[in-house]
Amino acid sequence: SIEYKGKYVLVVGLAKSGFAAANILHDLGAYVTVNDYSPREGNKEAEALEHKEIKTVCGGHPLELLDEPVDLIVKNPGIPYSNPLIHEAVRRQIPIVTEIEIASIVAKADILAITGSNGKTTTTTLTGLMLEGSGRKPVVAGNIGTVLSEMAAKSTDQEILVAELSSFQLQGTETFHPRIAVLLNLFEAHLDYHGSFEDYGHAKGRIFANQTEKDYAVYNADDEKVSSLALRSKAKKVPFSASSILNEGGYVKDGALYFYDEEIIRVNEIALPGKHNLENILAAVCAAKLAGASRENIQEVLKTFTGVKHRLQFVDEVAGVKIYNDSKATNILATSAALSAFQSPVILLAGGLDRGNSFDEMIPFLSGVKGIVCFGQTAKKLEEAARKAGIETIIMADNVEDAVPKGFSIASDGDVLLLSPACASWDQYKSFEQRGDMFINSVHKLK
Ligand code: ADP
Repeated sequence: SIEYKGKYVLVVGLAKSGFAAANILHDLGAYVTVNDYSPREGNKEAEALEHKEIKTVCGGHPLELLDEPVDLIVKNPGIPYSNPLIHEAVRRQIPIVTEIEIASIVAKADILAITGSNGKTTTTTLTGLMLEGSGRKPVVAGNIGTVLSEMAAKSTDQEILVAELSSFQLQGTETFHPRIAVLLNLFEAHLDYHGSFEDYGHAKGRIFANQTEKDYAVYNADDEKVSSLALRSKAKKVPFSASSILNEGGYVKDGALYFYDEEIIRVNEIALPGKHNLENILAAVCAAKLAGASRENIQEVLKTFTGVKHRLQFVDEVAGVKIYNDSKATNILATSAALSAFQSPVILLAGGLDRGNSFDEMIPFLSGVKGIVCFGQTAKKLEEAARKAGIETIIMADNVEDAVPKGFSIASDGDVLLLSPACASWDQYKSFEQRGDMFINSVHKLK
């Protein structure tokens, strides 16, 4: 492992992950400086670090930071490479990592890492649950809540770290090395940050980069780009497919889900709806089996788990209309997947932050949509796509709260009312969680 003692490390971007990384590196004997954009006043993390005699520079990202010796930068995943300080560090060839790299160096537990454009949280949650009661205690961390490096630093070899990772986190890894790596799918997302689809795929592909013959690469065989990245890995390949029968990995045959030759569960016993979720389930089954989960426990989880909040979450039934909250669907692929999950006519509520993309790719999925209520920055673009798709009723709304009664007014017994925005929430809401909670509140007011 890499020696940090006596190294000069600059942590850029504090938040929870920068705070954890600074503490870990300080304890390893590095000379740590932390730098945060927000002012020093009221910055609790900065204050706590100063108590440990860690140098803090707050209120901006001054280039002068690079005039001091810097051997390594630990960058918050949210800070783009176009940031002037980072840009200059790249020019000076200073290594730049995220706290994920630190996590992999200090972890005593094995890491089971999960990434992809969509389905990460669902798959990570499922995998964690499936590993409860197995030989090793699962610790779910990463993008999903707790900071990975913090959990890694306290981990023991009795545990397994089940980590949800974003492309932003993976881009800053050098030696990061998961025992089991899962790549779900690759869809054009975050191009504003990564520049091109190739760069984005490259970032996600880093999940496999340092694996050896002793490790496992679990990947979606139905996705060409995913497969080509996985096949370059040195790890043992474990494919899964929701659409064809494989002779290895995870697949569906005669109405049952298999892991290699072992029948795990009948598909009609699975509680979680949607073909996209079948992909997530197959990935989770492969990962959990490889990590030592029992068939009985996996069955139990699949019979009872009905989804994570804000992900195609069933909210209520009002006057025969089934209402679902899929606020987490922040891109076209996610909303297309949600629409494919329903046989009944759907009233779709969609819209949000305009990232500059068109919605044409969603048109084929809009065929079962009876009505659409558009809101947010993308309302006009969605209206256009809905017109091209030939949707009968197109309604404009101010926001989610306004869209719910408008959507409900055109729904009849047996329909589905679905919030699946296909856009991020930041034009009108703090987060997709807040948007989803607003939706749920408005649904309760329908009664
Ligand atoms: P992530 O953590 O990657 O954002 P989630 O599990 O939170 O993924 O799911 C987010 C949304 O993406 C869901 O609401 C659903 O509409 C869609 N989705 C989930 N899994 C998949 C999948 N395997 N393929 C396509 N879309 C998916």
